[in-house]
Amino acid sequence: MSYRLANIEGRAALVLGEYYYDLETVSNGAITSDPMAALSFTSDLSKIYSGLADLAPTGKLADAVLGAPVPNPSSVFTVGLNYRKTALDSKTPIPEVPMIVAKFPSCIVGPDCNLDMRSDYSDFEAELVVAIGQGGKNISVDDAWNHVAGLCVGQDFSDRAVQFSSTPPQFDLGKSFDTFGPIGPVLVSPDALEDRNSLALECEINGEIRQKDNTDDLIFDVPTLVSYLSQLVTLKTGDLIFTGTPAGIGAAEGRFLRDGDVITTTIEGLGSIVNKCVRGIDHPHAAFVPEIFKSKISAAKK
Ligand code: ZN
Repeated sequence: MSYRLANIEGRAALVLGEYYYDLETVSNGAITSDPMAALSFTSDLSKIYSGLADLAPTGKLADAVLGAPVPNPSSVFTVGLNYRKTALDSKTPIPEVPMIVAKFPSCIVGPDCNLDMRSDYSDFEAELVVAIGQGGKNISVDDAWNHVAGLCVGQDFSDRAVQFSSTPPQFDLGKSFDTFGPIGPVLVSPDALEDRNSLALECEINGEIRQKDNTDDLIFDVPTLVSYLSQLVTLKTGDLIFTGTPAGIGAAEGRFLRDGDVITTTIEGLGSIVNKCVRGIDHPHAAFVPEIFKSKISAAKK
């Protein structure tokens, strides 16, 4: 099983080298063009993919506009504090169970979408994203990879003003503004990677490296997360898991995103997504400066 799956203007396509192949066309109509439906056909995708080089490509990837490879998930889970080194550095106890926070599916956008910021406290979190293929309940750790359709790069953007304007803080809504969940550029089947458990991850803002780590440092790895979640909820095809972010986020450094910033997020074997920050109109809590960030913000300005 090996393939690279893309969403090109709303149609599922396989990607080989610099070309893409419309899935409905290369499957002779056996698989519809719906990118969500394609995730149910992972073994067929592999079969088609292995013969792709003999077929005529639909077009060049460089000329295509990429959408989110998984555009309409039922559920989007994110994991807090999931890098061991980050937890140790911040002297936070290593969590004993995954800390799960929701992102509303409506925030999911394509890999190169602009970030529509509504306050001066927008924050970035570079993350490995898992897409579920065959859903299920009570999936064992040993069987978990068989339920993963693919991996991609994601940004788990947050608005810290909204998150911290309520007491106690409430995280979901601030993670779920429109455009706050770019993913892509394509969905890569786990076996297409040399080592699916060890992927270098990096986040660069305007050319400066702000986050750098490797997914082999995850406290709860991909199989553990899939198995854990499936014991609590039925996972459905296309559900997404944002697996957590390493050190360097804006909240920790007192350096939030600014109008015009360009964020490049890269994961080994999966490619890069590039998102430009555009400061839109204020939301109702935009003037709220989260107390816990005040000293960090003034320290960062010095
Ligand atoms: Zn996150």
